[in-house]
Amino acid sequence: GSPTLPKRVFKIIVIGDSDVGKTCLTYRFCTGKFPEKTEATIGVDFRERTLDIDGEQIKLQLWDTAGQERFRKSMVPHYYRNVHAVVFTYDVTKGRSFQGLPSWIEECERYSLNASEIPRILVGNKCDLKDQAEVDTNSATRFADANSMPLFETSAKADSEMGNIEAIFLTVAHKLK
Ligand code: GDP
Ligand code: MG
Repeated sequence: GSPTLPKRVFKIIVIGDSDVGKTCLTYRFCTGKFPEKTEATIGVDFRERTLDIDGEQIKLQLWDTAGQERFRKSMVPHYYRNVHAVVFTYDVTKGRSFQGLPSWIEECERYSLNASEIPRILVGNKCDLKDQAEVDTNSATRFADANSMPLFETSAKADSEMGNIEAIFLTVAHKLK
């Protein structure tokens, strides 16, 4: 057969408050499944998946980070070192997780040397609970536009939303290619 092309590997960090679903999103994207049970991430977990983008093998190495301060402090510089893209995540049912986004963006700008050049994506998760939403799509769209990020509203839980989770990372992969 033909020789396999070398893979290009990209580091993507998933950032946001505790409990917004960062672990579920990355797990869902990398395994296709919603985890039965998650525990608070300590430091960082790694998951990866290779996408075929126009015949090119693009390996996305996802850094699923801890949202809680006590697990993060010493890790933060590692998160942002040589990062290729950042996925900012909030929970549509928790207004606080949306209001917390500016401080995550500020952290990113403080720690990544090339913050203005790396692709950034905004994800509103738990859309299966839309009836309990505290963050409406209009406000989220305005915030995304103001920060030059595309917005994806997703659910790591609902099977019907898998397409939108794929779309997050396809968008990232296309931007990085
Ligand atoms: P993390 O702290 O940001 O990594 O959040 P987790 O991925 O550990 O998820 C926190 C909680 O939210 C868990 O109880 C998950 O089952 C739940 N969860 C995550 N994603 C979704 C979602 O899309 N919909 C719903 N309803 N629950 C979710
Ligand atoms: Mg987690």
